[in-house]
Order: sequence, then structure tokens, then C-alpha cells
Amino acid sequence: MARAPVRSSQAKVVSNILEKHGYQLGQYLGKGAYAIVWEAYFKKWRTNVAVKVLMKDKAEAEFLSKFLPREIQVWKGLKHPNLINFYQSIETTNRVYIMLELAPGGEVMDKIRMKGACDERTAGKWFEQLCQGMAYIHSKGVVHRDLKLENLLLDQHDNIKISDFGFCKFAATDVKNLKQVQLSETYCGSYAYVPPEVLQGIPYNPFLSDVWSMGVILFTLRTGKLPFDDSNLRRLLKQMIKGPIFTQKHASISLECKDLVRGTLASDVHRYSLHTIFDHPWMLPLVRERPPYLRDMDALYLRPHLRRSTQRLMTIRHTDGGTRSTANLVSSTRLVHPEALRSPSPPPSPPAHRPPLHARPPLQRSWGGREEGGRAESERERERGRGLAKDGRRRE
Ligand code: ATP
Ligand code: MG
Repeated sequence: MARAPVRSSQAKVVSNILEKHGYQLGQYLGKGAYAIVWEAYFKKWRTNVAVKVLMKDKAEAEFLSKFLPREIQVWKGLKHPNLINFYQSIETTNRVYIMLELAPGGEVMDKIRMKGACDERTAGKWFEQLCQGMAYIHSKGVVHRDLKLENLLLDQHDNIKISDFGFCKFAATDVKNLKQVQLSETYCGSYAYVPPEVLQGIPYNPFLSDVWSMGVILFTLRTGKLPFDDSNLRRLLKQMIKGPIFTQKHASISLECKDLVRGTLASDVHRYSLHTIFDHPWMLPLVRERPPYLRDMDALYLRPHLRRSTQRLMTIRHTDGGTRSTANLVSSTRLVHPEALRSPSPPPSPPAHRPPLHARPPLQRSWGGREEGGRAESERERERGRGLAKDGRRRE
């Protein structure tokens, strides 16, 4: 591995710490909200790895006390060919270093950005691998909650590796039997990838919310564009409720693929479970091996019977943002606050005139979601709406 010239003082500090632990700093790979990711050579294993370096002083307290420990703890326990493998974490006074399997193929997002929509074969291969990885994650009672094209990486053979577990959590209260789902109240993700129930600030089933994000990914793989315009939250919600639109330009997309996209981008009452996705006619010829745990997972996709507040739709009127077009594929991860949606001042929204993609600054992830209820609710309790405030949100 050719060693990149180390210029900044930050890189020097990182390089020194890594040297002490047997790693040689390599080239810069990418940047997220808090993390800079570098390539490094691990001398003991004689292999290249990715090192995600998080600056503690740049992160909010909640990120350091809640989300980061969770990311490390959950990621450690996951092992699957379609997931980035977690190797090790090192904490120093100012930084946290996370050593990860290297994805030399980079982000799927970059492929779409450079080459546009993929053909049915490539989309099929990648989507099937995404489903395999997600079925595994869900079978462990874990939800990802930040699925997007930027977080799908590629290995040297162009296989999907799901990455970035910054918003993941255990969401099945009975992990052994995968029976009860703990509804989420941290409204996280990127506007373009979150389902309508998250945008509306309604406690949501995070397993079903991951399925929606998978639908956004499949649509984008096949069309080269995001399905919904997230420059204006009110319009975004309207579009989501209407469902994805296929035009004449999409004539080459098979009817089966379109049907699968519609089933994943449906309201949570009708949205497909992973079991249904694996049984879908578009998927059947693509599936290499059916995950054995699928049939035990159905309870994870139970529909939350929560009242939808029409008032929420009205309040989103205040949140008009810029005039971002869906052709712009970049989406920033942020928490969506129901409080922010209700307030007269709009939540941060993308600028009206965005610089070209290559000139864009790194994306920001904002934190500050409320603590999620540690208490499980039985399905019957949820149906009755007990323990829920009138507006459908749990007060805890
Ligand atoms: P976000 O802002 O999306 O929350 P983050 O701060 O959690 O990001 P990551 O998404 O984990 O950071 O990493 C940022 C970028 O670094 C990725 O989009 C990717 O380009 C690159 N990267 C991360 N992990 C790897 C890896 N294992 N191999 C190669 N590149 C990687
Ligand atoms: Mg990321």
C-alpha cells in the first residue's frame, strides 16, 4: 500500500496513535458528520483496514454517551458477508478510533453519481445482497435506521457491504423469540430516506422504517434519482403518501421491480416485510440462499396501530426549504424533530442553490433526539393507545 503524504497536524496525531497499535496510516477515504475515515495497514494481519476516527470535542454529549457506545457494542456482535466487519476500537483522550473491514470499492452512491441508474442485473445483485444483510441484522433484533446509498459500500468484487451503524439499536424486546417490537421515538435518518411516519414524528416500527429506506435505495438504483423531493418537507410528505412515480423514462424497468418498489414504499399498514420481499417474483430468481431465520421474523413487522394526527400535516407547512431537485442525490443524515416541525421557525433545510456535488462540504448529522422509552409495550396496549398522549407520542 502506498503511504499517503501526511500533512495536517491532525493526521500526524492519528498516525502516531495508529503506529503505537501496529497500524500504518494510509490514504484518506471519506468523511461523515463526526468521523474522518482513513485507510491503514495492520502489520500483524498484513492487511489493509479502514479506520474511522471520531473527534470527541466535535461531537455532542449525547452522541458520545449514547449513540457511539451503541454503535460499537452492536456492530461488534454482527458478522455477515454483506456487512462491514468490525475489528477493534481504541479510545484516547480526544478521539475514538474504530477499525473496520476495508471496502475498496467505495460507496454505491458514487457509482450512481458517475454512471447513473444501474441495469436490472446490477440492481438485482445489490438489492438481494442488501436484503441478505438486512435480514441478518433484523434477525438479531437490531435495526439500522440510517440506510442510504452513502452507507452501502462495495468490496473488491463489487459486493454490498452495509456500513455506518451510528443510529442502530436493539429494537426487539424479546430478542430470542423476536416477538415484541419497541417502537422508536428518535426521529433519525435522512429526509430522503425516512418513511412518512418518521417525518410526522409518530412513534414508529423501526423494522418497517428500514424497509422503506430499502425501497428508496431500490428506486434510486434503477432510476438514478431519489423517489421524493426532500427540499420541502410538506411536499415531501405529500409525495411519500402518493407513492413513487414511474414515468415513460422508466419503461425499461420491469413491472415486477416497480411492484416491489411500490410494496416497500407503501404506508406502514401495507408495507412489505422482509419475508414478503424475499418471496416477491422479482426477488425469487435473484436469491442465492434464503435466510433460514426469515419465517421467525414476521412479528417484527407488525403494523403499529397508532392514530395519525392530521395536525402534523398542517404544521409541516412552516418548514418550506429550498428548491432542491430530486436529481441531487446527496442527502444529509439528521434527526427529524417533531418539535421542530411544529415550531413556526423552520428546521435546518438544504440551501436553495446548492453548489455542485464535488464542491459540497461534508454532510452534517445532527443529534439531540429524545431518549427512547426503555419500556416495552405489548401489541394490545399499543392498539388501545394506552400510555400514549393524544397526539400519538409517548411522554416519557
Ligand atoms: P454519516 O455522516 O453518514 O453519519 P459517519 O460520520 O458515521 O457518516 P461513515 O458513514 O461511517 O461516517 O463514513 C464516512 C465515509 O467514509 C463513508 O461514506 C465512506 O465513503 C468512507 N468509509 C467509511 N467506512 C469505510 C470502509 N470500511 N471502507 C472504505 N470506506 C469507508
Ligand atoms: Mg455514513
